[in-house]
Amino acid sequence: MADARVLLGRPVARVINDSTSERAAEFQSKYNRSPLLAVLVSPDPASESYLKTIRLNAKKVTSEIREIPIRPDMGLTDLSAQIRSLNDDDTVDGILVQTPLPEGVKAEQVGRVLDRMKDVDGITPYQSGLLFRGAKHAMIPSTARAVIEILDYYRFGLEGLEVIVVGRSLVIGKPVGILALGRNATVTWCHSKTRGLPGLCKRAEILIAAIGRANMIDSKYVRPSATVIDVGINIDDKGELVGDVNANDIKSIATAYTPVPGGVGPVTTACLFDNLVNAAILRKSVRS
Ligand code: NAP
Repeated sequence: MADARVLLGRPVARVINDSTSERAAEFQSKYNRSPLLAVLVSPDPASESYLKTIRLNAKKVTSEIREIPIRPDMGLTDLSAQIRSLNDDDTVDGILVQTPLPEGVKAEQVGRVLDRMKDVDGITPYQSGLLFRGAKHAMIPSTARAVIEILDYYRFGLEGLEVIVVGRSLVIGKPVGILALGRNATVTWCHSKTRGLPGLCKRAEILIAAIGRANMIDSKYVRPSATVIDVGINIDDKGELVGDVNANDIKSIATAYTPVPGGVGPVTTACLFDNLVNAAILRKSVRS
């Protein structure tokens, strides 16, 4: 069997960025400033790598970013105070709180503090609720949306397919499964307590790995002709950026897979800025 097709993220990101850039420029000329994203930066190698792509993408789509470090010793009270001050700052259009969060702080808790109109990563109960209901104007978590954008761009329909998601986080695993369900896939979520994970994953026609374990998904987990989407961003023992999927091991079995780096990552960033510009425009339109 020939090696699987590599689903690159860059062409997908370009299409999204072109549209975002146009709308950001219109916003700029109307309000005399660019859309502004505040990023609460997590001190973690995978988050550092995400931050670099955010910086680059901001330039491509006429937007600004403001970086605020999350100190490892920050508790929920300090972090909440920081978020509230960004909620109140009228020049800030969107707020991204990177993970991992400080010890003991949960994404759900952060979601309860964030202004829902600035929630560009869809973690507030309001935005999660809209997503759950399939509302068209929901602010969808960027990484979850990126997975679907890639499948759409490369014309992989989801209807009737068996989709298995490994991971159930608020920002990736749960929402990507909900989105696949909305496309009429039959969805199973797996997690750290799932029994018989390789056998379950082997049923998947589309396997989505959002785990955070370097190279964990190998040929034991992949059904012949499956499409494998690798969301993971990990730093391996050699200090290299790798996904959750062992691409070398699965590429002679799968039909297609997303590489790391260069797969889901660039599309996530493009979706993030698309959400930012939508949030900026929406806030202004609500006021006027
Ligand atoms: P997370 O909150 O830590 O969630 C990880 C999920 O994986 C959890 O549901 C966990 O199960 C499950 N899991 C962990 N070990 C497992 C195992 N051995 N077997 C089965 N399931 C296991 O992480 P996240 O925020 O969702 O991020 C997931 C990955 O995506 C990370 O590598 C992150 O860096 C990456 N990421 C990528 C992008 C991108 O643009 N590509 C953006 C953001 C993050 P439990 O719920 O039972 O603990």
